Amino acid sequence: MCEGDRDVLRETDPEIESYIAAEERRQLEKVRLIPSENYVSAAVLAATGSVLTNKYSEGYAGKRYYEGQQNIDPVENLAIERAKKLFGVDHANVQPYSGSPANLAVYLAFCSPGDTIMGMALPHGGHLTHGWNVSITGRFFRSVQYQVSRETGRIDFDQVRDLARREKPKVIFCGATAYPRIIDFATFAAIAHEVGAKLCADIAHVAGLVVGGAHPSPVGHADVISTTTHKTLRGPRGGMLMATAACAKDIDKAVFPGLQGGPHNHTTAGIAVALHEASQPAFKDYAQQIVKNAKALAAALTGRGFALATGGTDNHLILVDLTSKGLPGKVAAKALDQAGLELNYNTVPFDPRKPFDPSGIRLGTPAVTTRGMKEAEMQHIARWMDEVCAAPQDEARLTRIAGEVREVCARFPAPGIRIA
Ligand SMILES: *Cc1c(COP(=O)(O)O)cnc(C)c1O
Repeated sequence: MCEGDRDVLRETDPEIESYIAAEERRQLEKVRLIPSENYVSAAVLAATGSVLTNKYSEGYAGKRYYEGQQNIDPVENLAIERAKKLFGVDHANVQPYSGSPANLAVYLAFCSPGDTIMGMALPHGGHLTHGWNVSITGRFFRSVQYQVSRETGRIDFDQVRDLARREKPKVIFCGATAYPRIIDFATFAAIAHEVGAKLCADIAHVAGLVVGGAHPSPVGHADVISTTTHKTLRGPRGGMLMATAACAKDIDKAVFPGLQGGPHNHTTAGIAVALHEASQPAFKDYAQQIVKNAKALAAALTGRGFALATGGTDNHLILVDLTSKGLPGKVAAKALDQAGLELNYNTVPFDPRKPFDPSGIRLGTPAVTTRGMKEAEMQHIARWMDEVCAAPQDEARLTRIAGEVREVCARFPAPGIRIA
């Protein structure tokens, strides 16, 4: 947005403008720990809020179904070239509207309705679109689901291999939405290729870590890589698919005309900017610091008696089982939010409670690391969490902690938010 755009919005629609202003303040004053969220830069916001939103461009660069693509084609080509270079892939498609449609395009590329697909069960850390029963991916396909081991909390590769050999899926999805450990792409690829399946690595959560060298890359193992652009990658809300040369055509055809109409060009521009930012040396430090912060926070929480799924973390994410604290996840999450610590309640593997009232909470360090917080601040966060979980009904305590949170947050500017 240009300087002054907000004044225009305030004049036109003061109601909406006031909610945006309030949301800016909220994002500034809270410790944001939802692991799928982040702060985009002012540059990404500017590209996203541009007149590129006015333009239709069904098709691909050089083969569009509308005229007037003089500026759109180069924007999309830049995004593609930057993605290819940054991830080291043969092919990139930057048109998926978000992570879920990107995954749907993968099924469309390789499967017919009723075919067998395989992914990680949602309560064990997989995404809805990895074949969970309420999702279209579990309803239009015959979905078989793997789980983590009850003993270790980690992906059980014996089970994955047995299931793949028995069920012969067309596509196997790996990658997760609530899994605190490294994904072993090589082992997944060996299993998929043994049974003749395509492997899709969904790196929606860890894309920024992959780019920054803080998580192994699926390149060279997966046939297709699916990602969102708005989580650790720190771009606008969107999706990307990357593929080997052999899968490139099928993927492109599945995205358009298979699944979508016109790409969101303002988002494409924002993705291009984010990819440029992620190619700078500072982004490597950022990615490494996300993991350092998560490990520091995990250690501090463990020290305060919190039980972590798998006992810790390798990435940006921590899954806490609150059973031992005698507190349901939802009660904790609501009290923590009141105290200025924003995270989400979440099922833990083999959760005896219901998904809408589960045993755990999920948190992560991408957003706080973007603001420049380091290991010292992770100690504060663990202490606040401990104090809240010890007395979630103590309103005075929650208010006092919210004040402390605001004070610490004031020392860490949030990109893209210009409040005085
Ligand atoms: C977030 C996420 C998605 C879906 O992204 P949306 O943009 O919310 O549709 C897909 N897969 C995984 C693993 C995710 O974490």
